[in-house]
Amino acid sequence: MVTVNRRSFFPILGLAAAAQPPAASQTLRGKLTATGAGQPALEAPGRGLVALEGDQPTLGVVKDPRLAGADFEAAGQFKSDRVFQIGPIHTRSMFLHRDGKRLFITYWCDLCAIRTYTPGICWCCQQDTKLDPLEKDDR
Ligand SMILES: [Zn+2]
Repeated sequence: MVTVNRRSFFPILGLAAAAQPPAASQTLRGKLTATGAGQPALEAPGRGLVALEGDQPTLGVVKDPRLAGADFEAAGQFKSDRVFQIGPIHTRSMFLHRDGKRLFITYWCDLCAIRTYTPGICWCCQQDTKLDPLEKDDR
């Protein structure tokens, strides 16, 4: 009897573990702005100002003056009610909403045909890359 009970017990445990929600990506959409302290933030409807955190290339994007005031969406996790951690840059977690489309935020060097995902100088020709939102991330 004991053996039978243990056998029937363990699969239930396994099921419970599988039913745990994964570290699902949350999204936050709003107007890209900054907190009073100059930290990048989203002004989200019904939620107010939420500070944005992320890795260095991600912070480069949310601090890009060309995106200031944009209809912006980030995927990641809420660290608290007021702080949102954007997913790492390779997870392509930042979007620009424009003309009803959700666009990946990318940067492009015309001269070298090199695409990057954070603003800055092209590593090849040293020119400033241009903001180039894309409907489809083609990489
Ligand atoms: Zn270049």
